[in-house]
Parts: sequence; structure tokens; C-alpha cells
Amino acid sequence: MKYFDAHCHIQFDAYDADREELIASMIEQEVGGLVVGVDYASSEKAISLAEQHDSLFASVGLHPNDTLEEVFDMNVFRTLASHPKVLAIGECGLDNFRPEDVDLSKPKQREVFEQHVQLAIETDKPLMIHSRPSKGTQDAYHDLIDILGSYKREHGERLHGDIHFFVGGVEEARSLIELGFTLSYTAVLTFTHDYDEVVRFAPLTSLLSETDSPYVAPPPNRGSRNDPRAVRAVVRAMAEIRSEDPEMVRSQILSNAERVFGPALRGAK
Ligand SMILES: [Zn+2]
Repeated sequence: MKYFDAHCHIQFDAYDADREELIASMIEQEVGGLVVGVDYASSEKAISLAEQHDSLFASVGLHPNDTLEEVFDMNVFRTLASHPKVLAIGECGLDNFRPEDVDLSKPKQREVFEQHVQLAIETDKPLMIHSRPSKGTQDAYHDLIDILGSYKREHGERLHGDIHFFVGGVEEARSLIELGFTLSYTAVLTFTHDYDEVVRFAPLTSLLSETDSPYVAPPPNRGSRNDPRAVRAVVRAMAEIRSEDPEMVRSQILSNAERVFGPALRGAK
């Protein structure tokens, strides 16, 4: 494996027609991936894909935008999390952008997120966090930093993970890195300069690559279905933005993933 997509959803229906061909092509291009669940059913599907393929792993959780539709049963997710190919807990977190009624959804989102944090600490697995502020603010990151900070004081190194699709600024990045979290970026880096400052600010050891497939395809495929092979373009963009050697960046980002998700990645083809 040369590249690791730290956040993809290739268990989604969008891949039903050609999933096995896609995975074969990922293997050929030496791209592995963490298949991230957003609810119980997609977490189970992620595990089943990971069982069938050496270079795929799973993350299990309930997306903050689904917390009013589905009950998060910690016991059920604890059982899922005990599978050896489950390397992370999530996606979970706080979303102030999407819910129609944020005030209604906030308390439930927070309650369910904290259950994920507790499960991650208990199982000593990293968190896969989705955090999206309301328009023009960093509100969800500030709440997130508060919550993670209080768990950090009690649990230290046992609390760790990745902030997926990071859209915060330098200040939020600094706090989250201090809390021991990595920041991951998608192919947005290939078509906007909005995140260049943070990508340059962060130590290379605090960055991960991801695609969030099927979302955010890089040009020339913008708007169509994305897939984890685009992670190569993400890593290239990071090297370019940071003016660093592409091969050095590729190899460091891969070892970051091994550090965050554990030695299981190293053995994967
Ligand atoms: Zn996602």
C-alpha cells in the first residue's frame, strides 16, 4: 500500500454496480482505505467489505445528522467495534450546518458524540470526527475543542483520532493538534486555495489524506461520483501547497495513518 484514504464510503449504494472492479483498481494503484459507517447498517457493511479485502478497514459510528433518526445503542456498537478490522469509532461529531433546526438537534448530537468518545476511550481506538460549523463561524469546532479538552484532561493519550474534512482555521487547527488529533483533507485542495494556510501551518505529521468518496471528486470529474483513487491527487496537492517533495509527503502521510489507525495497516498489501 502506498496511499491510505482515511475516510471513504465505498459501502454506499453508489458503488453497487461496480464495487469489486473499483476495489481491484484500488489494489492495483496501491490505495488502501478506511470505510466509514454513518449508521448501523453502513457500519456493518463497512466491516463486511473489510473482511473481504486485505487493504480495506472499517470505522463504525452514527453520523451527527442521523442522531435524531436512529438510536445510538452503545452496546450494539461496542460489539461492532470489537471486530479486528474496525480501526476507528465514527463518523461522529457535531454538525451545525446541515440540520434544519440546529437548536433541536444540538443536545442529541452532543449526547451521541460523547458516547462515541467514551467508546473510543474504552476500546483505545481513534475517533473519526465530523465537525461542521454554521456558515461564517467556527462554532462547531469551538464546542468540539471544549468537549475533547475535558476528556483529554481525564484520559490523556487514550483520547486521539482524526478530524475529517477539516474546514477550520489556523487557531482551531492548533488546538486540535495540541489535543493529539490529525486533520484530514480531501480533493477540495485541488480546486480551492481556502485551506492552503492551514495545510502549510500544520506539521506534516499531523495531516492525513482522505477522499470522502462518493463526495468531492477532483477536476475534471467534479460533480460526479468520487472514489478513493483520488487520494493520490490529494497527497500531490498537499506536497504542492507545502512546497515539499511529493514522495517524502506521500510516505509521511502513510506513516501518519499507521500511527493513528495502528499497526494493522502496515501488514496490508
Ligand atoms: Zn463521511
